[in-house]
Amino acid sequence: MKAIIDCNSFYAACERVFKPSLNGKPVVVLSNNDGCIVSRTDEAKALGIKMAGPYYEAKEILEQHKVAVFSSNYHLYGDMSWRVMETLRTLCQHVEVYSVDEAFADLEGIRESAMWNYGLHISKTVEQWTGVPVSVGIAPTKTLAKVANHIAKKNKVATQGTVALLTAGQIREALESTPVQTVWGVGARSAEKLHWLGIDTAWKLRNMSEEWAHKNLGGVVGIRLIKELQGHACIEMKDPLKKKKMIATTRMFGKPVFELAQLKEAIASYTSRAAEKLRRQSGAAGLVHVFVVTNDYPGNEYSYRPATKGLYSILPIATSLTNELIAHASILIEKLYNNGSRYLKAGVMLGNIVPDTSVQYNLFTAPANDNARTLMHVIDNVNFGMRDEMVKFAAAGTKKNWRMRQEYRSMRHTTRWEELYEIS
Ligand SMILES: [Mg+2]
Repeated sequence: MKAIIDCNSFYAACERVFKPSLNGKPVVVLSNNDGCIVSRTDEAKALGIKMAGPYYEAKEILEQHKVAVFSSNYHLYGDMSWRVMETLRTLCQHVEVYSVDEAFADLEGIRESAMWNYGLHISKTVEQWTGVPVSVGIAPTKTLAKVANHIAKKNKVATQGTVALLTAGQIREALESTPVQTVWGVGARSAEKLHWLGIDTAWKLRNMSEEWAHKNLGGVVGIRLIKELQGHACIEMKDPLKKKKMIATTRMFGKPVFELAQLKEAIASYTSRAAEKLRRQSGAAGLVHVFVVTNDYPGNEYSYRPATKGLYSILPIATSLTNELIAHASILIEKLYNNGSRYLKAGVMLGNIVPDTSVQYNLFTAPANDNARTLMHVIDNVNFGMRDEMVKFAAAGTKKNWRMRQEYRSMRHTTRWEELYEIS
């Protein structure tokens, strides 16, 4: 049996942990640059506030109902997510972190009669240890566990936030009440097609043949989906130790950027961040890709479809050294830059990642010396232990006019000494 544990309104829940006065009250969290609403508590949903809706459109209703509004505080959410996952690891054998607020777990070895109780135990423990409420769905396959989780979320009181689909009857009942568009793996386009074909519930989809799925739902993926709904596990648990093949850092600017000097600073800063992630998995990158998003139409910079441009370079030798990666990225941004363009966003991606210990050197280039590696190690340690960018490369600049807007960010209570939670 597999379980999916999903945090309820995760970002908003993290904010509530340190502001218990907000319990039972509407709370929303905004995306980067305070652009859209990306997390809502049940109370906020009940007010009709839409997911991913622009902040400025909802402003009136938010003020009218005194909804608590927060900018994204990724330091806090990242650390709270880690706490949730660590708690799960003490309770389950095999935990696969699926996203910042969701994880699959194997419930191997637990008796069927104890399954629901164990789910409840997981949810109670996570909430007690971290303050974050979760919903738990349990079923024979990942896709069915997702269905169970969806039902648990919709009926928090009746289910106590935990649903286990164990018998054929329970599975059937659950699938009959599940709209097809909410099934994991059914995209918006497929959902539209399915409705058009009269397949509006998960149960109807489950009863389609494999040949039909192959033809109508994108080949093997479709077959897998049907089989999962029928209770045959096809989507295996992933190896948690698997390393990323590609590392990216990308951000919106707080306000549009026009100057090359500022763009270069932003790119150097993003490259530093990506290089840090690269070293954390002991990798070296053989490819640097830089991209920018511009909007040169007159008027509101977000009103027309913006354009994306990118360039990459293949490095002669894979490296994990920030200074070398910045050097390559700077050349790319200089080539991409067009005087007069209005830049809204930029990003850096590191690819062709190989283990740092098995980099292929050639006749013309000497391997990075140990001093350079030691320096990176020291910088990473200082920045991790003290504060981000306590030590940084001059290329990343000091003023950071391009930094994103976060007008309503809460304190980073769990990761910064100087922002530690105070009890008076
Ligand atoms: Mg969630």
